[in-house]
Amino acid sequence: MQNSGLTLTKLTTLLNQLHDGVFSVEDGLIVYANETLSMLVGYRLDEILQQPFTRFIFPADLEKVVRYYQARMQGEDVPNEYEFRMLSKQGIAIDIRVTVGVSVAEDGLRTSIGTIKDLRETKRTMRDLANSQRDIESILNNMPDVFYRTDLQGFITLMSPSCKEVLGYEADEMIGRPLANFYCTPDEREKIVTAIQEGQGKSRQVEACLIHKDGSKVWISTNAYTRLDEHGQTIGVEGIARNITERKAMEDKLTTLARIDDLTQVHNRRYFYEEAEKQLMLAQRYQRPMALLMLDLDHFKQVNDTHGHRAGDDLLIHFAQICRSTIRETDIIGRTGGEEFAILLPETGLDAASLLAERIRSNVESSSLAFNHAILTYTVSVGVAVRDTEDMNIEKMLSQADKALYAAKKAGRNCVRIYDAEKSEVKLLQT
Ligand code: GH3
Ligand code: MG
Ligand code: MG
Repeated sequence: MQNSGLTLTKLTTLLNQLHDGVFSVEDGLIVYANETLSMLVGYRLDEILQQPFTRFIFPADLEKVVRYYQARMQGEDVPNEYEFRMLSKQGIAIDIRVTVGVSVAEDGLRTSIGTIKDLRETKRTMRDLANSQRDIESILNNMPDVFYRTDLQGFITLMSPSCKEVLGYEADEMIGRPLANFYCTPDEREKIVTAIQEGQGKSRQVEACLIHKDGSKVWISTNAYTRLDEHGQTIGVEGIARNITERKAMEDKLTTLARIDDLTQVHNRRYFYEEAEKQLMLAQRYQRPMALLMLDLDHFKQVNDTHGHRAGDDLLIHFAQICRSTIRETDIIGRTGGEEFAILLPETGLDAASLLAERIRSNVESSSLAFNHAILTYTVSVGVAVRDTEDMNIEKMLSQADKALYAAKKAGRNCVRIYDAEKSEVKLLQT
C-alpha cells in the first residue's frame, strides 16, 4: 500500500522544523538544504543552493571531508558519521557531526543525503566541565587543608594530596583503607561520628587526634558531613580537615601555664581548688578516703626581713621541692597563699596522711638552703583533715585543715595537728 499521506509541502515543513540541518548534494553542489542548516551557517537558502558544498567547510577540515565524499560516491566504505567543522558566513568554525548516506537513482545518479548536528553546545558543556574539573583539581592539589571522602563502610575513597603534608602518607597510601585506622584511639573517631549524628548529617567543627606516619600525634579540626546521592540516599561522609597541632600545643602550654604558680611551679590556688573539688566529688561518689594537708611556713616574715625577699622566694621554691619529692604522683599540691600550701591526698586515710605530714615537717626541719653566704633553715606547721561524712564539701574540709593548722601554730609551730571530725576538735599527731 502506498504511503501517500505525506505531500512534498508537508515534508518540506517537517524538514524545516528539525533541530538538525538536512542537506542533499549532487555532483558536489548543494541541491537541498533545510532552514535549520541555513541558520546554522548564517546564509540565506538562495545563497546555499546550487553552491559547491566545499564553500561551507572550514578550510583545515576540507581535505578530509572531500576525501570522504569522493570515496563514498565511488561506493567505498567510509564512516557515515563523523565530526568536522563548517564555516559560517562570518568565517567562524562550527563544530558539527554529520550523518550521511548515498541515494542512487534509476539513471545511476548518486546523491549524498545527510543530517548535520550542531555540536557547539555539547562541546561548550564538555569544555566547561573539563575546566571546572581542572579548577577543582587545582584547588584540591594546592590547598593546605585535607579534603577527604569515605564510603558508607568508612573506607577512604578520596584524599587530597595535602594529606602528605599533614599525615605523612601519599593519598594513594590512604585511599582504600578505613579512615578509622588513622585515629589515635577509637574515641577520637566516635567524636566525629557523634557530631555528624547530632548535627543530622552535618557536624559542627570537631577536633580529633590522628596518628602521623612517623607515629606522632596530629590534631585536626574538621567539619564532616554525610554525602547524598541524587535520590537523597546517604552514600558516605566527606569533609575538610585542618592541621591544628601547633595551635593545640600552644593551647596546652597556655593551659598548663594558667594552672601553675610562677615561682614554685606547683599548681596555683585556683587550679588547686578546682581539682580538689573534682577529687572530693569522686571520693564521695565511690566512698573512697581522701585527706587534705594545709601547710604554712613558720615565721616566714622573718626570713624576708633578715635575708631579703629573694631569700624568701628561694625558700618557697625549696619548700615546694621538698613537698613534691615526698608526695605521690597522684597527690595534688597547690600554693594557696604567700607562704601557704595545700596538698590533696586521694585514696588516703587519716593515718597515712598524718605520716606524710610528719615526713614533710621533718624533711623541712632537717634541710637547709644556702643563700648568698648564709645557711637558711626553717620549719613548717601542718594541719590535717580527712573526708569523713557523706556531706563533706571542700570548704568544710579546708576549714577543718585550717583549724588544725591554727592549732599547730598555737602549739609552738613546727608540728602537725589533726582535725578530729568525730569530736569536732583538733588532736595531736600520734606517732
Ligand atoms: P607564722 O609562723 O605565723 O606563719 O608567721 P609568718 O611570718 O610566716 O606569717 P605572716 O602571715 O605574718 O607572714 C607571711 C609573709 O610571707 C608575709 C609576706 O611578705 C611573705 N610572702 C608572701 N608571699 C611571698 C612571696 O612570694 N615571696 C616572699 N619572699 N615572701 C612572701
Ligand atoms: Mg607563715
Ligand atoms: Mg601564712
